[in-house]
Amino acid sequence: MIKSTDLDPDFKYEISKEPGGENIKKCFNCTGCTVGCPVTEIDKSYNPRMILRKAILGMRKEVLSDESLWLCASCYICYERCPQDVKITEVIGAIRAIAQREAKAGKIKLDNPKPLFDHLFIDSVRKNGKWYEAGVSGTFMLRTKGIGGAIGYAPMGFELWKKGKLNILPHTIKGKDELKRICKEVEK
Ligand code: SF4
Ligand code: SF4
Repeated sequence: MIKSTDLDPDFKYEISKEPGGENIKKCFNCTGCTVGCPVTEIDKSYNPRMILRKAILGMRKEVLSDESLWLCASCYICYERCPQDVKITEVIGAIRAIAQREAKAGKIKLDNPKPLFDHLFIDSVRKNGKWYEAGVSGTFMLRTKGIGGAIGYAPMGFELWKKGKLNILPHTIKGKDELKRICKEVEK
């Protein structure tokens, strides 16, 4: 049961202040995004229209803790189909950013491993100028599946390395410092 006292009427404004979340209030709940979503087609627990509806109604905690939030594959089909130009892929990104901040502050718990992967990926790009596949994948496996799980993936990593598809050490780019500065500006 939803109690009105649990709702946060300012949540939609909070989302609209995030980069990409500006158009959330334009959604008129037509379902166009959901009927064309390839993720919804294979996993009915993911319903982008429902996420937006709940967000607009102010169900802040429920939306931010929703596991399905991390299922969006950013394919942009809904983006093209939406008659209201809600830019739903970006709105989902804006809600994810709030969820990640709340998790960092210890206010909610995120069980889905995707935010961890995103964090490791961005950190790697920030440090090297490009992503360090072996390092990011290894750390991700270790933190999500433990030492046994990480070792289980080692043979696949070895095969990739033998075929020249995986570097053991990180490669860096020229202009790393400029990139670091750009990241700093974006994160302000
Ligand atoms: S298609 Fe656009 S207007 Fe329709 S429910 Fe999805 S986001 Fe809202
Ligand atoms: S961008 Fe996300 S919500 Fe939109 S259609 Fe693709 S998977 Fe579904």
